[in-house]
Amino acid sequence: MSDRKPIIAANWKMFKTPTEGYQFARQLLPKAMNLPGVKFILCPSATGLYHIQEVVKDSAIELGGQNLHPAEEGAFTGETSARMLVACGCQWVIIGHSERRHIFHESDKDIQPKIPTALNAGLNVILCIGERLEERQEGKTEEVLRQQLRDGLAGMETYPIDRLVIAYEPVWAIGTGVVATPEQAGEAHAQVRGILGELFPGIEAETVGILYGGSVKSSNAEALSKTPGIDGFLIGGASLDLDEYVKIAEISQIEA
Ligand code: PEP
Repeated sequence: MSDRKPIIAANWKMFKTPTEGYQFARQLLPKAMNLPGVKFILCPSATGLYHIQEVVKDSAIELGGQNLHPAEEGAFTGETSARMLVACGCQWVIIGHSERRHIFHESDKDIQPKIPTALNAGLNVILCIGERLEERQEGKTEEVLRQQLRDGLAGMETYPIDRLVIAYEPVWAIGTGVVATPEQAGEAHAQVRGILGELFPGIEAETVGILYGGSVKSSNAEALSKTPGIDGFLIGGASLDLDEYVKIAEISQIEA
């Protein structure tokens, strides 16, 4: 993805009220204008989206949801539809985050229908995949990535794959402070690209952006940014702090 801007996506999880998110976005705006070499995506909780879209509309900052329900609408208490995300100014949605998989027990089969729903609604998708520590220790990383991609992307052969971004997020690195080494991340990204090429033989696997996520901070962003095959970051904890988030973006722009 060398001719594309690195993506610096912020996953705020269940942090920041609408007002806090709005203020963050306002402060980010002038800084983002000075960093035209990266693509900023903010993914606040659903309650913050509508408020923040007022700030980021017509700017270089894009907005994403953290999840969606695959149905168009219906009696699904607590859920958010693709149409609602679009109406709140979203261009993106995160699907299959490891916290959805492991805390809320979402399986690849639950995740799969969300992807065509999102694409059909005009959203770009960040599909999160990644192995648990024990799976890595047992040498099963590639097997897990293959299964998550195969089952999560089942039936997607005719869909616009260039609107899909994969986030490789090893579960053992998310929110733990333990970051994958550039070698570990680079190897997994190459595996993901290879698997995408197998699953979608007609497409250029190079057209799919692959982000790294898992304890990214300004102190480790440089080495990861320099790693071939890493097209940007999905950032949790460090994205809650404006200075830290912008620092990661600055580093990514320099290394791009
Ligand atoms: C995430 O939530 O996607 C994530 C990578 O979190 P953190 O950066 O805090 O590890």
